[in-house]
Amino acid sequence: MKAKIAVIRGDGIGPEITDAALTALGAIATKFSHEFVYSFPLLGGEAVDNTGVPLPQETVDVCKKSDAVLLGAVGGPKWDSLAGHLRPEKGLLGIRSALGLYANVRPAFLYGALKNSSPLRPDIVKNGIDLVVVRELTGGIYFGERGQKRTEKGLTAYDTEIYSVHEIERIAKIAFEIAQKRRKKVTSVDKANVLESGRLWRGTVNHVAAAYPDVKLDHMLVDNCAMQIIRDPSQFDVMLCPNMFGDILSDEAAMAAGSIGMLPSSSLGTGTLGLYEPIHGSAPDIAGTDTANPIATVLAAGMMLSTSLGLYRETEILQLAVENVLDAGYRTADIYTPSTKKVSCSKMAELIALQILQL
Ligand code: NAD
Repeated sequence: MKAKIAVIRGDGIGPEITDAALTALGAIATKFSHEFVYSFPLLGGEAVDNTGVPLPQETVDVCKKSDAVLLGAVGGPKWDSLAGHLRPEKGLLGIRSALGLYANVRPAFLYGALKNSSPLRPDIVKNGIDLVVVRELTGGIYFGERGQKRTEKGLTAYDTEIYSVHEIERIAKIAFEIAQKRRKKVTSVDKANVLESGRLWRGTVNHVAAAYPDVKLDHMLVDNCAMQIIRDPSQFDVMLCPNMFGDILSDEAAMAAGSIGMLPSSSLGTGTLGLYEPIHGSAPDIAGTDTANPIATVLAAGMMLSTSLGLYRETEILQLAVENVLDAGYRTADIYTPSTKKVSCSKMAELIALQILQL
């Protein structure tokens, strides 16, 4: 098949990890005789430097005309002092919003070969980690009214958590549909004991659940959930989360699964166009050193193949290649343990590509 893929390299380690993903995609294209046509629109700090804004209209247009979008990461200290509307992260929120991508799907899976890389005790991870965080992406506190004002207490700042029934319903449906294809369990995360928005969240999720009698639903307060991920991550199948809670808990689940450098995500809307990225940021502390773990971005490209392009066998091969390379003992620095073989970001990509061709 021929597919148009917008590749947003971004900032920090973004170029290194997207290049790695393109190496893996190149092997997939060769093996299965596909033609992937890439464009490279700007976003984030790189866009600020070149165009003056974090999300140029041209980027939105190019992405909308593509079959899928693959993103590295944006942001870094160079742009931290800019006004809020010029910050790289604003571009990220903007592109998700412009493409109508309201559902962020973040699988956290602990590979057998990486059990020693999890910071959790062996007796805790012995049952494995295989969960999916379904995070609402275009609502909640990241999009509510915000500002600063002078009050009798002095300068104060506020951010508003706001959710509509419609926003909760559509993300809940995605979580239940994913659960139907997995172990049929949804844990909905909220703070219903304190927040009004949490009570609306819980009530609406209960309502949606009625249409999915084959899926078991339970509710968990976010503070308990943060603890339960550490206590026994194997209890989770699909975790349904508001925007901010999903942001935080998926990082925690990622670390439990070995490294933040291992976890991909997809951002989906109503159509087939999706945005695929690692869950981590631009890691400015290791940018340019060729030491980043590219696996999250490679696996994000794998999610793209099946979810946006309908290439299921190709996704399986890519995932198997990653697993085989890990089984063979190759590790980037973040997942390295003594007795394994430390490799660079680009070398890891080459090894995965070679595996894809050999499978
Ligand atoms: P981060 O995820 O970039 O890094 C956190 C830690 O994890 C760092 O020590 C980093 O070196 C390490 N790390 C991250 N990815 C790694 C990988 N692939 N391989 C090995 N180690 C990896 O989070 P941060 O430091 O809080 O944020 C840095 C910048 O990234 C900020 O500007 C932030 O706003 C931005 N950010 C962007 C996104 C995104 O583009 N989606 C997401 C989160 C943060």
